[in-house]
Amino acid sequence: MNILVTNDDGIRSRGLRELVKVLSEVGNVSVVAPDQERSGTGHAVTMHRPLRAIEITGIPGAVQAFQLDGTPADCVKLGVEVLLEQRPQLVVSGVNAGPNLGTDVLYSGTVSAAVEGLIMGVPAIAVSIADHSEEWLGLDKAVEVAARTAQAIGEKGLPEDTLLNINLPRLPAEEMKGIKITRVGIRRYRDFVEKRKDPWGRPYFWLTGEAVDMDEGPDSDTKAVKDGWISITPVRFRLTHEEFLEELASWNLD
Ligand code: MN
Repeated sequence: MNILVTNDDGIRSRGLRELVKVLSEVGNVSVVAPDQERSGTGHAVTMHRPLRAIEITGIPGAVQAFQLDGTPADCVKLGVEVLLEQRPQLVVSGVNAGPNLGTDVLYSGTVSAAVEGLIMGVPAIAVSIADHSEEWLGLDKAVEVAARTAQAIGEKGLPEDTLLNINLPRLPAEEMKGIKITRVGIRRYRDFVEKRKDPWGRPYFWLTGEAVDMDEGPDSDTKAVKDGWISITPVRFRLTHEEFLEELASWNLD
């Protein structure tokens, strides 16, 4: 199996390096990843300036690797279309430092790279750990689950428009409760803008905030990870609100 690995934390990220090492036991791993941190860029693509890809060596386990001065979605587009010698059969994005749960999947560069895989017709996995710290708590378990999931997709396939979003709790591997199949929860942010002053007294703003989970249903991804489970959510992007179509037509807007 040809696997394309990418991320949104940049090509130097430890999460990506560990993932490549372990996935190289499952298939031929190539890497196309951003040359710098690109977290929170969602599904942005670069259209108003050129993109430069530099082939690099020194990523153990990778048969080919490129750093790109673009977004995670750019990396998958170029990886699938032009950069790699062989078309990937699977895109794996991560391992991200920090969770991608609930509504955050829409902001996430990690998940958006996987979505780009789907758009290009390649099955995809996104993997994240709920640890932003230097400890990378859960990383070993994350790459193990990613490898097992990749193998299963190789054998069974995935529905055409579906990716798997995997999140691990911030716990040592032996304290995790196991795998729970979940739904996407609803996560909002409280106090999400800090207003500060620069040295000249002019205001500036910094996006931040405390996550507030609105949907505490027993099978939501947000709750599962909070409770110490490894969450795997099948995510797809059919965005039409089917049930509302008829009522909206009855508004007679023409
Ligand atoms: Mn990230």
